[in-house]
Amino acid sequence: MTSGPVAGAIDSIEKTAEILSPQPVFADGKPSLAGLGRTEISQKLAEIGVAQRELRMRTGQLWHWIYHRGATSFDVMLNVSKELRSLLAQHFTLDRPEIVSEQISVDGTRKWLIRMPPVSAHDKGAEIETVYIPESDRGTLCISSQVGCTLTCSFCHTGTQRLVRNLTSAEIVAQVMIARDRLGDWPGAARPTDGLVPDAERAVSNVVLMGMGEPLYNFEHVRDAMAVVTDGEGLTLSRRRITLSTSGVVPMIQRAGDEIASMLAISLHAVRDELRNELVPLNKKYPIAELLDACRNYPGVSNARRITFEYVMLDGVNDSLKDARELVRLLNGIPAKINLIPFNPWPGTTYKCSDWGRIEEFSDVVFRAGYASPVRTPRGRDILAACGQLKSETEKLRARARLMLEEGIGAEGVYAVGGGED
Ligand code: SAH
Ligand code: SF4
Repeated sequence: MTSGPVAGAIDSIEKTAEILSPQPVFADGKPSLAGLGRTEISQKLAEIGVAQRELRMRTGQLWHWIYHRGATSFDVMLNVSKELRSLLAQHFTLDRPEIVSEQISVDGTRKWLIRMPPVSAHDKGAEIETVYIPESDRGTLCISSQVGCTLTCSFCHTGTQRLVRNLTSAEIVAQVMIARDRLGDWPGAARPTDGLVPDAERAVSNVVLMGMGEPLYNFEHVRDAMAVVTDGEGLTLSRRRITLSTSGVVPMIQRAGDEIASMLAISLHAVRDELRNELVPLNKKYPIAELLDACRNYPGVSNARRITFEYVMLDGVNDSLKDARELVRLLNGIPAKINLIPFNPWPGTTYKCSDWGRIEEFSDVVFRAGYASPVRTPRGRDILAACGQLKSETEKLRARARLMLEEGIGAEGVYAVGGGED
């Protein structure tokens, strides 16, 4: 580790953490093919002796079963020869990472605590959370890109977590597969009978990268995962229904537009550098003017493909009407939507959520300037799954889940995170 003023400045922005992208170690030694990209699947097939000339065709067959049909076993792949099926089963599985817990809110919001296979003998397996938010005409899946986050936004609980690592591309894809498994969202599968999944063609119609982590600090894996998720012969989600939220990693924004081509959301949260340095310390590296320039140049941005600016409402901190007017002025000329997020408190924070009247006044200023400014409505108050709280304290969560079971009550809020195009 270097020292001196530069290193010091960077340390104040990012926690020191080892960022790894490890290969999972599987208990029975068999890796799973679920979540892998085409090249990786071909490589695995070559490793077990599938002839070079067959690789493309076999990869295509597996791809269809894994990503179009949602197969969890090689047995069902009837167009694959019996010999190859048994060879595959000898070497691989189609297992998903383990679901440690599933919580379902009365309004249908679901949250899964997911444990990734361990990456070393000492590792118990990193845990992340994935949240599903159903609405009448769509279902939005909020996925994580990292375990924890190295950035230290002052109002975000995820940023206080010590353990941080990048998720692999397969681990990112697996979150979508687990959601589709649980929601009966594969062709011919039965939907849950609880009436809490939208009556739309697809239960998971939108994906937002708004769970744990900074997606642009795990660029390659997020990009590769989105390639699998949007593949026309597999999970077939449109790139317009995927929203990537970043705290403002300016140098990666252009590449994100070129190589991921999703909708973009920016965690703005303040209109002056002095305050944004405090709330989103990454601003010290990439100040507001540079961030907004990157947004103006975001590939594909247009009135039909607007950038969402997220703005967390913090009582007495960033919620004055002067701030609202400045927000509108700053965004002038950028095709934008503004998303006001009620602050979600967590133990130990000194911030408070702005009161409802203030959020409405703020929203009015933004609305009168011609911006749609939906306020994220509190959802699923009976489970703990809110923005910035994900996987905050697993143990505490388990205790709370037990308590909820015993007493049939719950506590903190969860906010709808609808993103992307309708
Ligand atoms: N790291 C990325 C994506 C994950 S955070 C990012 O920062 O954009 C998703 C959104 O939740 C961000 O806009 C983030 O600023 C916001 N958020 C974090 N903590 C929050 C809290 N306690 N209450 C409300 N929103 C919060
Ligand atoms: Fe990380 Fe986003 Fe939380 Fe900031 S708001 S600490 S970038 S997850």
